[in-house]
Amino acid sequence: MERINFSLLRNKAEKEIKRATDLEELNVIFKKYLGKKGIITQILSSLKNLPKEKRSKIGRQANLLKSIIEKEKEKREIAIKKQIEQESEKDESIDVTLPAKRPETGHLHPLTLVRRKVEKIFESMGFCVVQGPHIETEWYNFDALNIPKDHPARDLWDTFWLDQKRNKEKLLLRTHTSPVQVRYMEKHNPPFRIIVPGRVFRHEASDASHDIQFYQVEGLMIDTDISVTNFKGIIDQFLRKFFNRKIKTRLRPGYFPFVEPGFEIDVQCFICQGKGCSTCSQTGWVELCPGGMVHPNVLKAGGLNPKNWQGFAFGMGLDRLAMMTYKIGDIRLFYNGDLRFLKQF
Ligand SMILES: [Zn+2]
Repeated sequence: MERINFSLLRNKAEKEIKRATDLEELNVIFKKYLGKKGIITQILSSLKNLPKEKRSKIGRQANLLKSIIEKEKEKREIAIKKQIEQESEKDESIDVTLPAKRPETGHLHPLTLVRRKVEKIFESMGFCVVQGPHIETEWYNFDALNIPKDHPARDLWDTFWLDQKRNKEKLLLRTHTSPVQVRYMEKHNPPFRIIVPGRVFRHEASDASHDIQFYQVEGLMIDTDISVTNFKGIIDQFLRKFFNRKIKTRLRPGYFPFVEPGFEIDVQCFICQGKGCSTCSQTGWVELCPGGMVHPNVLKAGGLNPKNWQGFAFGMGLDRLAMMTYKIGDIRLFYNGDLRFLKQF
């Protein structure tokens, strides 16, 4: 039998036992030394082949190591069990006074927030909120609105035309919310005042202020005695309520086929208060939306007699209102689903 280094064996065994992290591992280590075929078991069983004086010396050392390993194993076993107990206690302890974990909830999109605010203000002025279809016929989107056959807006490059079925009317994604004007006139008797918030589509390149889809709020008021004064009064009142302060506006003549006379509605620049800055190109005014008195041909298309009824209409950009409200410089942020952006509202 080779010489056995008991102190080396003891160090090794102690180190291994201390490193064991669970009971299973500890058992494997224990068996390695004291199992049926364990190192120390083998030493003890080979004693009978040794000469007498060697036998008692090695026997004593082997038995000493055996009891050391047994004690170390027991200590480690207690420590591991205690640790397991503590961990399970930690898991089970419930502080009933702690607030519960709330499931993460979403919130309204900034465009929805602005749309609801706009709806609320117009409703307070007697307007009804009305919806219309996204897919429109060429008639409602163009012809009924007095837009000539050769108008560039009908061009393939401005409008998303849908595949045409044989002998069926041409369909498109509405380019504005104005088709709802005629749809509403056909089914309702005036007087009425409505707004039509909704998504519209344009076939154009997107940049910071244009996208292929955006939101409009159409406004329409029809009665027996409506003038431009009513129009300006309603717009001014809306803006004052929306921005919560007095906003100066002006009407500038503009041509739109569905109104006569037609206007561009400008608001005094928020940034420079009309003195002139880069945002307003030094003019002191920012374009808000087009509008005007409903063209007699549009009234006729809706089945109303222009001799009896007049009214005004406008088409405000909801995205533009939201951009002004939150000081957002790029319209595309509303549509790309970036949570870093959306979580700010
Ligand atoms: Zn300015």
